[in-house]
Formats: sequence, C-alpha cells, structure tokens
Amino acid sequence: MPATHPGLMRFLLPALLSLCCAGPARAAHVLVDAGHGPEQPGATGASGRAEYLYNRDLAAALARALAALGDRTTRIEGIGVDIPAARRAADAPEADLLVSIHHDSAQARFLAAGRQSEFAGYSIFVSALNARPGRSLACARRIGERLRSAGERPSDYHAEPVEGENHPFIDRPLGVHRYDDLAVLRHAPMPAVLVEAGVIINPEEELRLGRQETIARLARAIAQGAHACLEDRRHQEPDLAAMPGRF
Ligand SMILES: [Zn+2]
Repeated sequence: MPATHPGLMRFLLPALLSLCCAGPARAAHVLVDAGHGPEQPGATGASGRAEYLYNRDLAAALARALAALGDRTTRIEGIGVDIPAARRAADAPEADLLVSIHHDSAQARFLAAGRQSEFAGYSIFVSALNARPGRSLACARRIGERLRSAGERPSDYHAEPVEGENHPFIDRPLGVHRYDDLAVLRHAPMPAVLVEAGVIINPEEELRLGRQETIARLARAIAQGAHACLEDRRHQEPDLAAMPGRF
C-alpha cells in the first residue's frame, strides 16, 4: 500500500467527503391530494361530470410525473368515503409538500346569468396560517412558472372584490392567491398548495381539461414546479410580510 502524506490527506479528505456524500439531494416526498371524494364530489362540470373525477385523473397523472422525476409520492384519495379536508395530510405528516388538486367552478349567480364561458384558467392558493407559509409560497410560485411555461393562463376570478371571492393575488402573473382559511392548507403540518387546474363549468375548457394530452401536460408542469421548489429548499424562504391581504 503506498504511503499517504498526512498533510495531503488533510487537504483532500473534506473534498472527497463532499464528493461522496453530497450526491443528489434525497428524494422528496410529496402528498398528492385528489380534492373532495366520491360522496361529496365538489363542483359539477358543464357536461354534468363531477369535479372529483377530474381531480382523481390529474392527481394520478401528477403522482406518475413526480415518480418520473425521482420523487416519492403518497396519494390521498377518498375511496368509498370522503376524507375531511383538515385530515388530508394525517397519514404522512413527515412529507415535504402537499399538493391538493381541484377543478374550478364559479358562483351560482354568474352561472345563472349564462356567464360560464367567461371563466377559464388556473389558480394556485396558499394559506398564511399553514405551518410553512413561506415555503408554500415558494412552491406555489415554482408551480405557477411551470404552468405558464406549459402555455396555461391564470384566472383572475378569485381576486374579484365580490362576496365569496376576494382572495387577493400574492403573485398575479403566476396566478398565486392568498386564501388563509382553506382547511386542507391551514391544517397541513408541511408546506401546502392548492391548485385549481382549470374551470370545468366552462364547456370548452371542460373538454380541454378532460383530454389525456392536457392532463399529462398539466401533471408534468405541476410536478416540475414542486420538484424544483423542493430541490431549492436550502434557499431562504420568502418573507411572510410580503404576503398581501387579510390575516
Ligand atoms: Zn374543489
């Protein structure tokens, strides 16, 4: 065995250790929540198809897209019975991120007025009452960036100053809103975002959102955003004071 110069080893060892042990970041663990459940399936699409079915399809595609990026996922799905929003994250409190998948409607008065085709686009929500609001916002922004890059456009409906909406934009170009009281977000012990992938009450948008090609593209974009944000976790979290709106 050749002799090793101790001074050289003192110099080389930290470098060798950093090479061996830094490696790729550990796989992230993402909770993928298909919003609502079979008993209370959420909104109803223009065709009569329930929101839960859209959520389930996109959540399944998102789990596959995250797995393709090397991330671990746990699916949250109401099978036979709905899971209360406040308990969605209960089975895996150690997860790094919760992504709750939904599809949007609009208030009944707009639908009654025949205005459903006016509503389109995605929205992303975070809650300042979540355990990790800064990290939630960072992940929401990464997801918004990837959705924009994938050709999606944010909706501005939820920011309208009308009763039942009025959820202010934190980041308008990326479609990120603040909605503190969303139970699935505020009760999650990990960073959490809720994605309304599009508006199923709009007949054209519903058709588009039901296509396999759209589902796969949305899933890839959301997965890439979540993955990028979790790889970024060593970076400083955004300042909560930068979040506008009500507490
Ligand atoms: Zn929903």
